[in-house]
Amino acid sequence: MGRVRVLDDNLVNRIAAGEVVERPASVVKELVENSLDARASSVEIRVDEGGKRRVVVADDGEGMERDDALLALERHATSKLRSIEDLAAIGTLGFRGEALPSIAAVSRFLMRTAARDGYGTEIEARAGRIVAVREVEARRGTTIEVGGIFFNVPARRKFLRAGPTELAHVVRTVAHYALAHPSVGFVLLHEGRRLLDAPRVAGRAERIAQVHGRELAAKLVPVGQERSGIRVQGFAGRPVDAGPRRDAQHVFVNGRLVSDRVLTHAVGAAYGDTVARGLHPAVLVFVEIDPSRVDVNVHPQKTEVRFDRSSEVHDAVRDAIASALPAAAAVPGLADLRPTPYAQAREASIAAALARHAFASEPVPRPYAEGASTAPASLLDETSAAVDPGRRAVPLAQYKDSYIVAQDREGLVLVDQHVAHERVLYERYLEAVERGDVEVQRLLFPLTIEFTAEEAALFESEAPEFARLGFLIEPFGDRAVKLDAIPAFAKEVPADKLVRRLLGEAAQTRAAATAVDELRRKLVTSAACQAAIKVNYPLTRDGMQRLLDDLFLTQNPTTCPHGRPILFRLSLEEIERAFRRR
Ligand code: ADP
Ligand code: MG
Repeated sequence: MGRVRVLDDNLVNRIAAGEVVERPASVVKELVENSLDARASSVEIRVDEGGKRRVVVADDGEGMERDDALLALERHATSKLRSIEDLAAIGTLGFRGEALPSIAAVSRFLMRTAARDGYGTEIEARAGRIVAVREVEARRGTTIEVGGIFFNVPARRKFLRAGPTELAHVVRTVAHYALAHPSVGFVLLHEGRRLLDAPRVAGRAERIAQVHGRELAAKLVPVGQERSGIRVQGFAGRPVDAGPRRDAQHVFVNGRLVSDRVLTHAVGAAYGDTVARGLHPAVLVFVEIDPSRVDVNVHPQKTEVRFDRSSEVHDAVRDAIASALPAAAAVPGLADLRPTPYAQAREASIAAALARHAFASEPVPRPYAEGASTAPASLLDETSAAVDPGRRAVPLAQYKDSYIVAQDREGLVLVDQHVAHERVLYERYLEAVERGDVEVQRLLFPLTIEFTAEEAALFESEAPEFARLGFLIEPFGDRAVKLDAIPAFAKEVPADKLVRRLLGEAAQTRAAATAVDELRRKLVTSAACQAAIKVNYPLTRDGMQRLLDDLFLTQNPTTCPHGRPILFRLSLEEIERAFRRR
């Protein structure tokens, strides 16, 4: 990298202006970008209190000589850009010359940098004013320590979120750069705990395993195609593995994670109708394109880009992903012949229901499925028309193994069995959590769950809430936990899946800055939903009766915790009107 120079005003005016420092994660982003631009082979990031107390980024890159180091703290000083022509084809992550001065202006800043092993320069600044410059012993590379971000701008400090939320942003930022640069080693420590340890590796697949765990990595299919000078490489999840989290999809352009409507659309188009609405397959795609064909100078944080021929990029990304997916997912015509994910899911749950019946003699208690008769109720069954006195709803039949047809004093009631059960579990569970006596089920064999860096960071802060929810979990190394017990009502749900889903829910709820009891309700809702009987699940008449009785004992038998209706009524009056008896 050449010498640092201050950009002339003409050029400065051409650069997208705006704040680069918003929160600790933005400091991490800018410093890591600088380390990568300095061709570091390893970068270590240390944060305390989610980065609010301290962010340290240390690299073994090119470092700076004393004069450059001093100049780098001036506004619009950069070694990466000289002329307007350079701006049209930027190959580095940075170019605005604003990060270091902006960060130094709002923190206690310490930079130690050396262009060769032996000695280097240390510069200390407070709120943007240099307070000391020293010659120090140092190895080649640069270490920047940023303490007390916004300590001098209380109005902005106030807007920082709680440590765990800020940490989640930091973890995500580091994960993104780690994914994009497998040949650089990354370490992330929070309060001394190693959340990510990713030594340099040869390929992206190994890096994905380091960041997201082997389990996810094993499920991805490789993507690789080059067309009209646009190279698209990476990995994509299969439609059946799609999950609820939108942030599972990442598209990088020339090593930079971008959020771009065209690219998001291209990813969606690759999957077409193979994925149910609201579900998102994991996607990690790296687009490489001649820098002159992409304008990164659109947004101060450089998260948006503009392509010269965006439809070419769109189609290249879409086709690269689509052709990697099994069964030619994006070929139109064919889509209609393949079973849709819904149909597949339905078949799977029918198979599961059949399997349950096959083993009906096993002494495993199944909610509402066991009881006097083991045969599934059907409309042909003889109905017990006797309605108990009082308000009791009595089941007449189960329709499509999914809806309970019942009658009560006012007429007919149609009940969605899944949401009904969800409501029952939700209220009982929430009450038990609040009382502090959730019934737990010990696992026969304790389960070890390997977390991703993000999950581990999150779990650290949510552990007490998980304990209250009836999960007996102990740390097991830096990034794994040992699960000994789960809430008894959820024992049918695969325990690791349950914990992961709840963690994901916690992440989303925390990101929306909600109160603890809101978080608890969300987690209880999610657990109830996962444990509730599904549709396409045959119930015995006794089971239906108990479910109805349980449902009408809840506070709100008409809507599920997600807000969906549980029951649908047809009053005697409406029936009589329909038949012109009134
Ligand atoms: P930009 O990255 O846009 O050039 P910055 O304010 O981030 O602006 O950095 C200013 C200059 O300081 C860079 O152009 C680079 O020359 C130098 N610099 C910053 N961080 C490092 C680092 N970690 N290693 C070597 N040089 C660095
Ligand atoms: Mg920079």
